[in-house]
Amino acid sequence: MATVTLESPLSGIIGGRSAKALEKAFGVVTAQDLLEHLPRRYSRRGELTPLVGLPVGEQVTVVAQVLDVQVRRMQRRPGQIVEARITDGVGTLTLTFFNQAFRANELRAGRQGIFAGKVSEYRGAYQLQHPDYEFFDADAEVPGGAQLEEAAAKAWAETPVPIYPATTQMPSWTVARSVAMVLDALTDVPDPLPTQLLRSEGLLALGAAFEAAHRPRNDSDWRSAQRSLKFREAFDLQLALLYRRRQHAAEPSTPREPGALLESFDAALPFTLTGDQTEVGRVIAQELALPHPMHRLLQGEVGSGKTLVALRAMLQVAESGGQSALLAPTEVLASQHFRSVVEALGPDLAARLNPVLVTGRMPAAERRRALLSLASGTARIAVGTHALMSEGVTFYDLGLTVIDEQHRFGVEQREALRQKGAQPHVLAMTATPIPRTVALTAFGDLETLTIRELPPGRQGIETFVVPEIEMPRRAARVWERAAEDIESGRQIYVVCPAISGGKSPSLEEGELAADEAEATTAPLAGRAAAGTSAAGASAAGGPAAQAKRPLANVSDTVAEIRAMARFAGMRVEALSGDMPGPEKDQVMSEFAAGDIHVLVATTVIEVGVNVPNASIMIVRDADRFGVSQLHQLRGRVGRGAHAGLCLLMSTAEQGTTARERIEAVAATIDGFALAEIDLELRREGDILGTAQSGGRSTLKLLRVTHDGELIAHARELAGSLLDVDPELITHPGLAAMISREEEHLENLAKS
Ligand code: ADP
Ligand code: MG
Repeated sequence: MATVTLESPLSGIIGGRSAKALEKAFGVVTAQDLLEHLPRRYSRRGELTPLVGLPVGEQVTVVAQVLDVQVRRMQRRPGQIVEARITDGVGTLTLTFFNQAFRANELRAGRQGIFAGKVSEYRGAYQLQHPDYEFFDADAEVPGGAQLEEAAAKAWAETPVPIYPATTQMPSWTVARSVAMVLDALTDVPDPLPTQLLRSEGLLALGAAFEAAHRPRNDSDWRSAQRSLKFREAFDLQLALLYRRRQHAAEPSTPREPGALLESFDAALPFTLTGDQTEVGRVIAQELALPHPMHRLLQGEVGSGKTLVALRAMLQVAESGGQSALLAPTEVLASQHFRSVVEALGPDLAARLNPVLVTGRMPAAERRRALLSLASGTARIAVGTHALMSEGVTFYDLGLTVIDEQHRFGVEQREALRQKGAQPHVLAMTATPIPRTVALTAFGDLETLTIRELPPGRQGIETFVVPEIEMPRRAARVWERAAEDIESGRQIYVVCPAISGGKSPSLEEGELAADEAEATTAPLAGRAAAGTSAAGASAAGGPAAQAKRPLANVSDTVAEIRAMARFAGMRVEALSGDMPGPEKDQVMSEFAAGDIHVLVATTVIEVGVNVPNASIMIVRDADRFGVSQLHQLRGRVGRGAHAGLCLLMSTAEQGTTARERIEAVAATIDGFALAEIDLELRREGDILGTAQSGGRSTLKLLRVTHDGELIAHARELAGSLLDVDPELITHPGLAAMISREEEHLENLAKS
């Protein structure tokens, strides 16, 4: 056999059939792929897996002992059934086999082994039908079977047994056997990490780490293997991210010096910049003037004045005739940004910079005009949606791309817009505070800037949970209070999780655009029972609180509020993502102008919408929203001279997680703290994209929720290494690793 390395295809080591089966099961192709398919946990031969509480319907792998076995004729059909019971010493689990009498000879009482199969329930008892199993006494490594020396027997019983993620076709021990063949065949495992780093971090060499992870002699073997491999994962990822960032940063781009345009804008500003705006603005101004592209992520609470910072950057770029593109996730936001850009510029600057709006839904003639002025360079600012990235859009000299609500876009989209210029500067913005470890991992190729300070004069926001079931009176009072505020000149938002009755919501987070991020799908049962008629609702003192009613939706809520006597003469309108663009814009601008008193909406208004006169945010079925989402929603009020009030209505009962989440939102206004809470409550996969059919798509041992320090430490080490050897000339192994990581990074950032 030829020399076996980590890059060798599995087929040459373990045979074509096994290789194909492994590829099908886990997407592994090379020796390295398989060695990185790590055990999920480790059992011991002497330590049986508890059999209580096994998840019905799921594939399990358990270590157990055969208790007894019996063969009987089937009652209704011809044939035999073998039933063996296995035990963990406490509970039992039945293994059943149809017409396989030979099983009874294998499944002798007292034998121990690993059993794998799908758990089902039959007449109240758990069973595995036609499970796979392997007995320990058949292990080649068991010295002497039953006549073990006492010490050897003890060692044998205590040796950890790796339990691999398995499928029906590919049980754990088959994986183990293939892994063993690969480990035996590998001649030399070069370690891409510098020896000095291995020593200073106390890491196992790569080959030794694989050996200890897959064939541990004791617990400390696999523990140190895991530690080493986890460090490597963090280090590889950070090195790749930093390398990519430095590559980008080294590319040439046009320096954009600030000048008269920015000066006259600043001179006309009706307020002074906050300290953070000044500081962040200084960093950005400096970097725009460098002959290399800036790549920055600007995070700051809603209303902290990010858009203003972005606009000042655009003015700096415009000084030398450069153009800027501001990309927003929805039509509503794009239109709003456009209006506020025009307004903030004032008539003189607006005439000189000629900002244009580009969306997919605008009339063809208008769009053509806008595209023409971008191509000729007469428009120096473009505001738009995804439409900005489409092929027909060309820029004369794109110098800066600003991406609002970065988390709603993927890396390729950021890339697509970047491609429209010669290395334009990139400013990505987000109002969803990103915990540091997530920022380092998912957005590690962007350097973060943060605005923590809000502009002065904000009145603050108070948040209360309104438990509809426990306190129906308080729920009724919500509508009373809303009406009072409207009477004193304010406006109200009401947010619902669904668009209309008969549609149940899909509240997945992280969709591309809020336009799509809304409710649709199958009807909910039991609508007739709910208080959906306007009369019923007002009788209960407002949209009714019912234990098992369908989710609150926009269209019913509009009808219910309109029917309340208290709201007579007030304008109540709906806004949802399924409405035609012009209609949405119409509603939004009427609300902004104060002509609509109550705006009942889905989460289309989640991000960036700015109506300073709005004072109350009412969220119905608030427990159906994510923690960060609620925080975003609350940020829509208290943006002007009036204090904000956020009322989180919910039927979730005290003590439930759902209730705890909304209580957490009510308890703190600190978006960063909430982002951390959100992180705790969400599964890892939700944050870094869901696992795609194995392969190298997601994190393996690393957990952004728990490994913050490790990630930060690895980043520091990776940075120092690149400082000394930016092209990794003395570390060819790491250079090769980085090109492999590229694909991995793309997947990570698609969250
Ligand atoms: P963000 O994009 O971070 O949500 P915006 O840039 O939309 O915030 O700012 C919110 C509001 O605050 C806008 O009306 C803006 O004009 C105003 N604003 C921004 N900076 C300041 C400041 N330094 N002082 C007072 N008001 C400000
Ligand atoms: Mg904004």
